[in-house]
This record gives sequence, C-alpha cells and structure tokens, in this order.
Amino acid sequence: MKFVYFFGCGFADGNASMKSELGGKGANLAEMTSLKLPVPAGFTISTKVCLDYIKGAGTFSPELKAEVESAMKKTEEAMGARFADSLNPLLVSVRSGARVSMPGMMDTVLNLGLNPTTAEALAKKTSNPRFAYDSYRRFIQMYSNVVKELETHYMEDAFDSLKKQKGYLEDTDLNADDLKELIETFKLIYKKHIGEAFPDDPYEQLWTAIGAVFKSWNCSRAKKYREIHSIPNEWGTAVNVCSMVYGNMGENSGTGVCFTRDPSTGENVFYGEYLINAQGEDVVAGIRTPKTLLLLEKDMPEVFVQLEEVRSKLERHYRDVQDIEFTIQEGKLYLLQTRNAKRTTQAALKIAIDFAKEGTITKQEALLRVNPQDLDKLLHPTLDPRAHKQVIAKGLPASPGAVSGRAVFTAVEAESWAARGEMVVLVRDETSPEDIGGMYASQGFLTARGGMTSHAAVVARQMGKCCVAGCSSLNISLSNKSVKVAGIEILEGDWITLDGSTGEVMLGKVETKNAELSSDFATYMGWAKEYRKLKVRANADTPRDAQYARSFGAEGIGLCRTEHMFFDENRLPVVRQMILSKNRAERKEALDKLLPFQRDDFVGILSAMEGFEVTIRLLDPPLHEFLPHTDKDMMTLSNQLGFSADEIKQRVKALYEANPMLGHRGCRLGISHPEIYEMQVKAIVEAVEKCRSQGKKVFPEIMIPLVGEAEELRWLKDRLIKIAPQIPFGTMIEVPRAALTANKIAKHADFFSFGTNDLTQTTYGFSRDDSAPFLRVYKQENILTEDPFAVLDQEGVGQLVKLACELGRSINSNLKLGICGEHGGEPSSVKFCHKIGLNYVSCSPFRIPIAMLAAAQEAV
Ligand code: ADP
Ligand code: MG
Ligand code: MG
Repeated sequence: MKFVYFFGCGFADGNASMKSELGGKGANLAEMTSLKLPVPAGFTISTKVCLDYIKGAGTFSPELKAEVESAMKKTEEAMGARFADSLNPLLVSVRSGARVSMPGMMDTVLNLGLNPTTAEALAKKTSNPRFAYDSYRRFIQMYSNVVKELETHYMEDAFDSLKKQKGYLEDTDLNADDLKELIETFKLIYKKHIGEAFPDDPYEQLWTAIGAVFKSWNCSRAKKYREIHSIPNEWGTAVNVCSMVYGNMGENSGTGVCFTRDPSTGENVFYGEYLINAQGEDVVAGIRTPKTLLLLEKDMPEVFVQLEEVRSKLERHYRDVQDIEFTIQEGKLYLLQTRNAKRTTQAALKIAIDFAKEGTITKQEALLRVNPQDLDKLLHPTLDPRAHKQVIAKGLPASPGAVSGRAVFTAVEAESWAARGEMVVLVRDETSPEDIGGMYASQGFLTARGGMTSHAAVVARQMGKCCVAGCSSLNISLSNKSVKVAGIEILEGDWITLDGSTGEVMLGKVETKNAELSSDFATYMGWAKEYRKLKVRANADTPRDAQYARSFGAEGIGLCRTEHMFFDENRLPVVRQMILSKNRAERKEALDKLLPFQRDDFVGILSAMEGFEVTIRLLDPPLHEFLPHTDKDMMTLSNQLGFSADEIKQRVKALYEANPMLGHRGCRLGISHPEIYEMQVKAIVEAVEKCRSQGKKVFPEIMIPLVGEAEELRWLKDRLIKIAPQIPFGTMIEVPRAALTANKIAKHADFFSFGTNDLTQTTYGFSRDDSAPFLRVYKQENILTEDPFAVLDQEGVGQLVKLACELGRSINSNLKLGICGEHGGEPSSVKFCHKIGLNYVSCSPFRIPIAMLAAAQEAV
C-alpha cells in the first residue's frame, strides 16, 4: 500500500480525482504541479494513515517512515536545499486537508525545520536576518499553538509588549535583533507552560506536527463541523508537507488569496486580497486588513500578469470558479492551493449561467451546479429602502442579506441567547473556528477586523448568513460587553441591524422587505423548468399565497386547505353556530350563511391560479378545533350566539377526543355531517360559474381527506357528484390502509394526492405534534439519520406511496398522482417522487424553486 504521494518539478504521484486519499488540498496540489504551475515541491500523506494513527495510539509504522524519508529526499532535490541542513536548510509547512474543505478547521504549521543553527543559516543564505528570525518566531508561535495547544495570547502579549516597549506601530517594524529577543522570550514561555524545552530537531518537529494534524481530525471544533455538515468521521484527513516559500522576505514579497470570479456576485472579475511582506496566515486570520488584488497590478505588474494567466488556466481546467492561495517570494509567484470557490447563491446562479453561455459547461451541468436548498437564501429579506435608518458604521459587504438582532459579543452568548428564542447578531473583533456554534445561532456577524476572505466572511457566505466584516471603527470591549462606535455605546442585548450587501451597520431594528428575484434567477428557473418532468404546485390557502406561489413559478395548487377559511373572525361565529346547532335544519341554516363566504374564497383562489388546477380539500380537522376551550371564551360565545354556557360546555365535552389526530375528522366528518361537504361543493360549483361568467379558465379538483376504505370515498362521491358532475374528484392517500387498497380506491378517484405528513405519522405511529423530543435523541443515537417529517422515509412511507401508485394506475392508467406533504419541497424527497413517476409535487410557496430545481436535477 502506498502512503505518501510526491509532487514537484512538474511531476506528481497523485491527481485531482484522488481527493479521498489525498484530501482536497493534496489532490489539487498534485494536479497543479502536473499542469506545470509553480507549486513548491512536497508530498502528501494519505488519509488512510490518519485513522490508523488515531487508532494506533499515535505511532507511525516503519513503512510510513521510509516513504516519508524518500519523499523528503525528492523534495530536497527539487528545491535545491536540505531539510535539517546546517548550511542550506529546507523548511516546510505541515498542512491538513480533508476530502472536502473544512475551512480553518484544522491548523497548519509554517516554517517547520527551524532551530538556532538553521535559522542562522537561513539568515546567511538570504542575507536577510530579519526575515529568518521573523520566520522562526512565527514557527514557534504556530507550533506551540497547533501542536502543543498552548493558548495564543501568551506569546501575542509578549509580542505586543515588545512592540509597545520599542514604540513600534507595525509588526514589520520589529528588526532582526528584536525578533531574536522575542524568540528567546517565546522559548521561555514554551518551557514554562509545556514543561520541556522547545524542540530543536527538525525531524522531531516534523513527526510531532504530522501527528498533531492527524489528531486534530478529532478535535471538538472539527467534530462539530462534521456533525453540522454530515461529514463522515471515517474519512480522516491527509497531511501535506510542502516546501516553504516566503512572502515575508521584504517589500517585493507577499501573500494573498484570489478568486477567478467575484464569489459574492459571481461577476466575471478577478477578485482577491493580498498583503505585502507577510505569510499566509496573516490574510486568512484577518490580523491585518489586506489590500485589494487590483492594486497588485501597480505593486508588482509582472506577477499580476502571471497571476491572470493562472486565473484563466485554472478556471478552464477545473471548469469552475477557483479560490487560489498564492505567495510571492522576491517577485516570484508560487501557488499553494486551489479549490472550487465557495460562493453565495446569487453568485452560484450567475456563474452556472455564464459558464453555460460561455460554452464551458452544458445547461444540464449548470443545473447541477446549485444546491436546491440554497435557493432559499435568495428569497432572503433586504432593507426596506423607505425605512428610516441610523447608520453608525460601515464595513465590508461580506455576505448579503439584511438582518436585525441583539448584539452579543461571544459565540457562547450567541448560543445561549438564541436558545431563549432571541435573534442575535454576533459582534467580534474577528471570528475563529471555535465560534462556529455561535455563528450558526446568530442572524449575522459583524467583525472589526479582517477582509472579505476572513473567517467570518467565508463562513457567512457558506451558511447564507449576513456578514459585515472589517468594520474598523468598532471599539469592542469584551469585559464591558459593549462596543463603542461613532460616539455611541451599544451594550449586550441592544438591537442592531446589518446590511451585508452594503456593509452598513445601523442602530436599532430597521424594517426589511422581501427579496426581489434577479433575472439570473428567472433564467435559471426557466432552464430547470425546461428539463424537469415533475410539475410543481403550491400549498396555498389564500389568493395572496397563490399569487406569491405563481410568482415563484407554481403550476397550480396541490393543496388548498379549506379549514383556514373557517377561522376568519367574521365566519368563526357562524361556524360555531353550525357546530352547536341541535338539528339538521338549524345546521343547514348556518351552512347557508357560510356558503357565500366559501364561494368568494374559491372565486379568489381559482382566479389567482387561473389556467392551472387547484385541488381543494374539503374540511379535514375535527369540529372541536373550532370551539372555545376556556370558561371565559365560552361565556363570550354564549353571549354572542344565544346558546347557554352549559349547552356549549356540553357540546365541547361531547366532542372531546382522546386522540384527535385519529379521531372524528376528514371523510369521517364528511360522512357523519354530509351537509358540510355538500355546502363546500356547492360553493365550489358557484365559484366556477362566477369565474367562467367572467371569462376565466379555472380548474378546481375536489379532494376528500383521510380515506382508508374505498367505500368511504364511494359513499361521499355518489352524493357530491350530483352537485358537481363536471369536477374531478380524488382523495388524499394518508393512512396506510388507503395505500394498501389503492386499487379499490382508484375505482372512485380521478387523482391521488399523497398526504405524507399524516402518512408518516400513521405509518411510523409517531405523533407529528409530540415526536420532536425523542426524534432528537434518535438522531443523536443515529437510530434515524433524518427527521422523517422533514425528509421522506423512502424505505417505509415511500414504499407505501410507490405501491399505491402502482395499484392505482393498474386500475386507472390516467390516475393523476401528486404529493402535498412537507416533503414536496425537500430535494431528496422530490427526487424520489420523480423516480416513482408522480405527476407533480406540491409545497409551500417559498420552496417552489427548490422543488423545481431538485426535479430538474433528477431529470437531466
Ligand atoms: P487552510 O486549510 O486553513 O487554508 P493552509 O494549509 O492552506 O490552511 O495554510 C494556511 C496558510 O499558510 C495559507 O495562506 C497558505 O497559503 C499558507 N501556506 C501553507 N503552506 C505554505 C508554504 N509551504 N509556503 C508558504 N505559505 C504556505
Ligand atoms: Mg488554505
Ligand atoms: Mg392529512
């Protein structure tokens, strides 16, 4: 078995397809090397070694040691220097890299191989002692923190106090002698806290660092990240050992990050940031605020031209936007990493469309480039332009969206405030990977330091959260839990508003308004529509929802719940009168009063969906849901309707059910009170007449809920079809028995609509309303990987759906099939619906684009 993969001098053992062995970073370093791009030589230790190392209590096999030594020899030859050499020393970085990028999750040690001898040699060789000792002090800092887990502030404080003592402003003001002094201080700090001397042997440094990278796979923040992103624990990380190139050699050196297109808007512009005389970490950590890439054209014109060539070469090669790390050593460009860039959803859409238009990818590929779930983020709010706002600061617009929340100053606070149901904005000097939990809990992030590629910015774009970064006018005091800005002090819990599209920070809560969809969105959804086979309808109960749904691309309504129409304050008294009535005649009278209301509802919703089918579900919930339950409310009702309080109490008691979900509802109610469904059907018929008289083309479908026995449907349909002979009738399949006897039910149905919320409830026997607490435990214990109410259980519930489709179609090949449960807007469930041949899915308006794209992805 091969453990170690060399790359250097235009030759590499690995390539980009080997992410599972080499990790993303290692695979792409190999690929770039083979592309003859300037990558410093090095080698990657396979992810396979990681788990063995963790299981094997931290030991390395002799085979591995031999492979590493031989790869190190090749690296030395490629770089013309030798690791641990006392005259011409080679330094390396030890980097982690999992199969998928886990930004900042595991740490890198730079400048490894330094000790007093090699540092002296490096100083001589480069005639740049300042650089040599700057590298050495950085190495000690990183090694102490990453490998030995020493908190960073000990050495940072020593650094700052030396700076202060010498009266320097910039880090770069420290000269070689200062740095030498600092190194001695650092070593003392190390010895004091770690209890041993700082290691001088480069090979000892190397192996300890490699072990630390492997171990970091199991550190708590990496675990947490994997948990959030469903990354398997068994993958492990690779270790990349890479020859150092130095961005800190002076004014003609530097380091930076660039994107082949703007990752925030998707625009085809070269985009990035860099720092002169700095090493990699400085940019990412947001310690100094970097310069925008365009200035590099002036600072180092030749390097800039070269970098532009790299830009187009890599983008063409990977056929996707790249996020590239580079370092310039004395005017020479080196590449240290490339990966497919993380991007906002807007950018993802624009990039996919542009790539397809440029002919780099096909339309079908373009449709696969956006995660359907992410479309949600496009529908996020923006600031209402008319709202009054008091702008108190401006930072970088790092991730779009507009949010308001209460200011909190630590990730821990963010989590605890959010747990109490508060909306929070996390305000920090800069964020770090430890903050990940608190970042998830926040509406948005505001940082005082760091650029567009700082941790906060990257994480925000990935999470689809709003972020304003590098807002340098903030003066944050952790001890006071406050931030001072523009003469104002904001305390913990005070409301602030961020606009991640402009970088503005505002005092208080500013009105937001819903997003307007871009033309890219329309184009992309148009493509999705072209390829998908499933139709997408909406679950909508009001003309307003229906209009919303249409604007998102809905092609009809799959579920219009009529009970919502009964809760209107004008109608509820009549509904109650109907329920409390003592005989048919009285009930009929109340129903006659309800009919015009219902008719107008239907006119509204059918008109809003003109040209498309609208599935209207007859009354479903048990009647007691409409009655008051407290004595006070019963008294009010008694005064309103003239029934005595006792009568009302009696009726409430009579309607009481131990298991309402399995109770007197759906078609059961329709059968025991046929006049209710008759009134509803009459209202539909009258609504159709009215619409048609106005020249509108409307297509209602009548749906009977909760059928489990074919006779139920036959009994109701026989009565109702007399009132509405022209309108299609169908049923919801939402109890297992309906699915199992679908061939019988299909005899009386023009369509089936799978009510997978109830079907999940009745198949699992999990109460929809009470299962959350134990489902949480089930997920923790991996008994269930997903909540079956959110993601369709394909193995169980899905099989019932599939069976019902087959049975139903065996009787009626024209039977129309759809799904109207929550699952109709969840990508994996939509894909399943496509596979089993449903005609449509129906979901909430905001999820229509998600369902449409998921359907297209399954069809291309
Ligand atoms: P991360 O996965 O957190 O981005 P990296 O391993 O890419 O960590 O390294 C962190 C920083 O150090 C990056 O800016 C990178 O470019 C820089 N870096 C890593 N290895 C080297 C090297 N051999 N020479 C110069 N800079 C390096
Ligand atoms: Mg990196
Ligand atoms: Mg139901």
